[in-house]
Amino acid sequence: MNYYAKPVARLIDELSKLPGIGPKTAQRLAFHLLNAAPEAAAGLARAIEEARRTVGHCRVCGNFTDEDPCFICRDERRRGDVICVVERPRDVVAMEKARSFKGLYHVLHGAISPMEGIGPEQLRVRELLRRLEDGKVKEIILATNPNVEGDATALYLSGLLKPLGLLVTRIAHGLPVGADLEYADEVTLCKALEGRREMK
Ligand SMILES: [Zn+2]
Repeated sequence: MNYYAKPVARLIDELSKLPGIGPKTAQRLAFHLLNAAPEAAAGLARAIEEARRTVGHCRVCGNFTDEDPCFICRDERRRGDVICVVERPRDVVAMEKARSFKGLYHVLHGAISPMEGIGPEQLRVRELLRRLEDGKVKEIILATNPNVEGDATALYLSGLLKPLGLLVTRIAHGLPVGADLEYADEVTLCKALEGRREMK
């Protein structure tokens, strides 16, 4: 890193900590920002700072939001009797892009993974149970990812939710096994949702 002036080295170092950004890309981005108009770099810095300051988790569904509850939870045109459970905020975006789901969401912020020491208590499971207390929700769609962790999470939640008398369904396995929801195209995601089956 001693090829660079100190502030440049620091900028490259920070950029290379981002996912998918290797040292070469970090250097390219840093030089781009240094060559760009001062407002461009300042705009980026402000956007990062503002997003971090104003965005948190919706207290109902756990999705990223700058209003609490979020715009999806507040939307009265959406069905309040069905909740789609996903692992990450990005999965909500994938489902919304597919445009076939009109209910509400619940973001777990992860999946059960004994390998990584993540159990149900680290996920937003208690928050989900609290949402079911008033009896308005009739169906839970488990849309965790079609991989080992996602399946384990779906199985755990099914065991927890079925005794409450809810219809518990799992999205169909038209999705490529091991892939994340966010990489599925919209047609595949629609079909996976339509083809959901009751958990046994
Ligand atoms: Zn919400």
